[in-house]
Amino acid sequence: MFHEYKKTIEKGDVVMLYMTRESIVPIVVDEEKNFNNKFGEYKHKKMIGMDYGTKMLSENKKGFLYLLHPTPELWTLSVPHRTQILYMPDISIISLKLDLKPGKIVIESGTGSGSFTHSIARSIAPSGHLHTFEYHEERAKIIKAELENHNLASIVTSNHRDVCKNGFSLEDVADAVFLDLPAPWEAVPAAVKSLRKDKVGRICTFSPCIEQVQRTALALNENGFFDIETIECLVRTHDSSHLEMPDIQSAIDGQKAKFKSNKGRKRLISSKIKNADEDAETQDISITKLLASKPVMTARGHTSYLTFASLLVNKP
Ligand code: SAM
Repeated sequence: MFHEYKKTIEKGDVVMLYMTRESIVPIVVDEEKNFNNKFGEYKHKKMIGMDYGTKMLSENKKGFLYLLHPTPELWTLSVPHRTQILYMPDISIISLKLDLKPGKIVIESGTGSGSFTHSIARSIAPSGHLHTFEYHEERAKIIKAELENHNLASIVTSNHRDVCKNGFSLEDVADAVFLDLPAPWEAVPAAVKSLRKDKVGRICTFSPCIEQVQRTALALNENGFFDIETIECLVRTHDSSHLEMPDIQSAIDGQKAKFKSNKGRKRLISSKIKNADEDAETQDISITKLLASKPVMTARGHTSYLTFASLLVNKP
């Protein structure tokens, strides 16, 4: 379901009820149930037979929502938080640098709320496998049920275990290991054991403090990893605006008045663009409109440091 697409909603399917970006509720379609919010009631049984993507009206016709197909991205936005979770900026860079793709065998610990678990599963499906480990019993139980509900149980094996004490019980099979643990350095020897030795294995650890990064880097170095690098993934938004650019001849001809340099103004409103067009028409000035953007400096949103490394291959 999360790793393949279907057109029409059936009984038992997961549907993401999208009200706004901040308000997305996942449901499993059950003819006996209704979804209620302050705008009205939505009957599950009426969703059956509708296409994913449909805009559905409430029974009183006062409210509406969209019936969206489940994806790991929507799951990350709507998953009930049992722990802190990974978000898409980090998920994308980790997936890229661990080279997650169909067929890969991956180990993850801890599973936490399963946010990253769903993305890994989609990346490696249908032929790969994810072994995920969580030592909190209740969390391990919940994720097991969610994976069943989401048709991911054949791609993901969920284990209840303390990996720092007991390792992964997997030898020479994994292409990549991802550790989101308070003490990832304690699981590094287990990661070495589980990674394949016939090709370069990759590891990533996710830690909020630089002291954790230092201990992890030492453990990676001592356990035969090379190419150790730590990065911080920060989201930066860009402001865009339209600027007027005269051609060179117009500028040389002293038509500077027509080239408003936006002194004292950051943005040119659309009426100005229109006026500039008219001026250009009557006075034969060629003005090009340029869409420009610049990064906005906002508060830094540190989540964690990502430390990547590769394991040396055993030469025959
Ligand atoms: N990456 C997850 C996600 O995207 O939802 C969140 C992981 S959460 C921050 C860390 C998890 O690691 C917690 O659920 C915790 O119980 C688990 N954990 C901590 N130490 C562990 C250990 N030694 N073995 C297994 N799991 C452990």
